[in-house]
This record gives sequence, C-alpha cells and structure tokens, in this order.
Amino acid sequence: MQQQEDEQWMRYAMQLAQRAEEAGEVPVGAVLVRDGQVVAEGWNLSVCEHDPTAHAEIRVLRAAGQQVGNYRLLDTTLYVTLEPCIMCTGALIHARIGRLVYGAADLKTGAVQSVFSLLGDPRHNHQVAVTAGVLAEACSQQLSAFFARRREEKRAERRARQALEAKASVVGGANSDIKG
Ligand code: ZN
Repeated sequence: MQQQEDEQWMRYAMQLAQRAEEAGEVPVGAVLVRDGQVVAEGWNLSVCEHDPTAHAEIRVLRAAGQQVGNYRLLDTTLYVTLEPCIMCTGALIHARIGRLVYGAADLKTGAVQSVFSLLGDPRHNHQVAVTAGVLAEACSQQLSAFFARRREEKRAERRARQALEAKASVVGGANSDIKG
C-alpha cells in the first residue's frame, strides 16, 4: 500500500522533472504531500533563475511555506526524483518534514546515503525518515537520457562548426592562390 502510494507520487515528481528538462535544466522534480494531498510542487531551475539554490526541493519548500503560512512543514512527505544534496538535506531538517522519499541515488553529490549521510546523524534535533530508491531505475534513466541527449547536441554543434571552418579554409586557400 505504502509502496504503491510512493510509486504513484514518484511518477508525479518525474512529470515535474520533465518540466525542468523542457526549460533546459537537469530534470529533477519534487512534490510535497500531506494526507494524500499536494502541498506544493517544483522542479530544478538553477540555470534559468541564475540561482544556485533553485533546486527542486528548495523551490518546493519555499512554495509550501508560503502555502501553509509556516516554515515548519510537519507531517509532510517530500518526494524527489534524485537524492538530495547537502544544501537540500539541511533545508529538509529546518522545515521539519516527516519523511523523504527519493528515486535515483546521486553518487557525486548525494547527501543522504551516497556521499554523505547527513540525515541520519543523531545530533540533529529533528529526524527525517527516509525511503530510498523508489522507481530508482526510471528516475536514473530520465537523468541519463537527458545527459546523453545533451552530449549528442554538443557533438552535433562541434561537427557543424568544424564543417564551417573547413569550408572557410577552402575559400581562404582559393583566395590566396588568386593573390599568388
Ligand atoms: Zn539540492
């Protein structure tokens, strides 16, 4: 039951991640849920907003705080497609969220289990329950497909530039022949 509900919300978060991708951002989406209802939702917009803090989780927490008129978001569950970073895990503790559910592990900057284990530290005055790896495969696939597409676009750009340069050097060569 819980697993079914988690997967359903994770699919919702993946749709939000798609919105980030449409804006040219790394596709990460997040939704905050209380009693089976959406409190707030968001997606990564760091590049578009020139804002290093505009991760999906932070944007959701900000929107939720405005929504409920309180920075403390007790008894909520945050669903996010990628393991949160150090900044976001800190914000989750400040917000006193009850539970975090994430999809793909982030082996480079994950701060829940992969690189750091910040939420489990007993010195925090608030403990966040964690469920990791919900639809992990699909979430990770969404991210790697994005990076593969972006690499392909860069390669295509490079090829187009090289073709243009080759053409220019042929024209340049012809000119110098005429001068000679
Ligand atoms: Zn983050």
